[in-house]
Amino acid sequence: MPSLFSPRDIDYLMVVYHLSHVRGTARISDVARYLGVAKPTASLMLKKLMRFGLLRRVNGGYTLTKEGLSICTDMFIKHTIIETALSRLGLDPDEACRLAREIEVLIPMDKALKIWEGMGKPERCPHSDPIKCTTPPPASCRVRVIARIR
Ligand SMILES: [Zn+2]
Repeated sequence: MPSLFSPRDIDYLMVVYHLSHVRGTARISDVARYLGVAKPTASLMLKKLMRFGLLRRVNGGYTLTKEGLSICTDMFIKHTIIETALSRLGLDPDEACRLAREIEVLIPMDKALKIWEGMGKPERCPHSDPIKCTTPPPASCRVRVIARIR
């Protein structure tokens, strides 16, 4: 497993999490459509994430392993903290979300939590998603803004 994930890796994990929640499994064609990529591109990426132990095959599609879910949860907590901070500094919520997507993979959790404490431990991000969660909401802002889910 890599020590650093790319924002794109996390997009895939979040979309698989969302799709397996609503449909029981995340099919390659649905993942490709949600992320606006070609099917072979999605297929390669899903296989890579499976080799890292973050995804497993279920009913002709993919779902997150425990490890994959734990990474999604950590990223989502960092995501909402950073976007809350950026929106308090004047960015609009979706702008803050897109920038937080780039930063969440780089910032260690203890530093993110320090920022969260410095802001007075807010409970929700600017999109009203919970910041301190045990699992991310399936249709979180992280998924909605990137995958343009209605
Ligand atoms: Zn948000």
